[in-house]
Amino acid sequence: MKRILLWTGVGLGTAAIVAVAILILFTCVFGNHTYSAPTCTEPGVCTRCGEIHSEPLGHTFSEATCTEPSVCLRCGERRGEPLGHVFLPAACTEPEICERCGERRGEPLGHDMTEANFQTPATCTRCGLVEGEPVPGALKDRAFTEMEVGVPLPYTTASYQDYDVDVTGTAEIVDYAVIDGDETFPAREGYEWHIATVRLVFSGEDAQKNGMQSAMTYGDYYIFDDQMSRTADEDGMRRFVCNYRGARVQCWQKTGPNEEADWFDHELRFTWREGVLVPKGYDGVLLILYHFRLAKDATRLFLPASAVLDENALVFRMK
Ligand SMILES: [Zn+2]
Ligand SMILES: [Zn+2]
Ligand SMILES: [Zn+2]
Ligand SMILES: [Zn+2]
Repeated sequence: MKRILLWTGVGLGTAAIVAVAILILFTCVFGNHTYSAPTCTEPGVCTRCGEIHSEPLGHTFSEATCTEPSVCLRCGERRGEPLGHVFLPAACTEPEICERCGERRGEPLGHDMTEANFQTPATCTRCGLVEGEPVPGALKDRAFTEMEVGVPLPYTTASYQDYDVDVTGTAEIVDYAVIDGDETFPAREGYEWHIATVRLVFSGEDAQKNGMQSAMTYGDYYIFDDQMSRTADEDGMRRFVCNYRGARVQCWQKTGPNEEADWFDHELRFTWREGVLVPKGYDGVLLILYHFRLAKDATRLFLPASAVLDENALVFRMK
């Protein structure tokens, strides 16, 4: 009897263990759920009983790019459209480039070079790249005596009495100014007056006895052979042409009235203003004082620079 009870007890105990094991293995009654991992769109769910454990994660979208739409980093789901490139215009040395991703398209434009001129080297019209030097002036290597403001230089010219007799005094640029204009020198849009005040002084017996005749003309540092017009218009304006930034530009010259023209204490003195009306910034005009005999022989004043320029000529560059 005792043995039967014992065996019965063992049997009941085994059955209970088996039952519990079955419950553990095949049900969730002890809270032993087996959850699946949640995804972007599905919650975490118990694979046995279907109990929901966690919410769907939701997508984690990347930023869209030029060529790819927004994409979920977890599941690869795509949303929307690619943004497309935003190309910046091509430049001289760069093709079109996407400002977002750096993608390059096409070819660089290449430089668009101007021809060099007297004032400016060859220059790219787009980016401003400069190549080489300006074209050298025609007078670059020509010998002449250059005047400075406030420095009198010896000036030899012809006697008033006899053109074969030389007289020597001094010539000085006593003042030089760039102005828009004044009552003598009328202003003009886009132009400026370059005005030199010239003083000639002849003194001593030579001057007393012979007097003097001066001769003056104009030249251009850049172009050698262009000449000033022989005659002035009714306003005293004399035309000439300069070559500025690759273009021939009309200019004018005018001689102001004498401010001094007489004997002062045994000095024969002439002072007057010489002006040229040139495009703003033009620096090529040369005021040239030369021996009057050259003009006399040529029977004209305002000789071309090529006829008078040598080391005896006094030259003031109106720049
Ligand atoms: Zn479960
Ligand atoms: Zn996703
Ligand atoms: Zn792009
Ligand atoms: Zn360029």
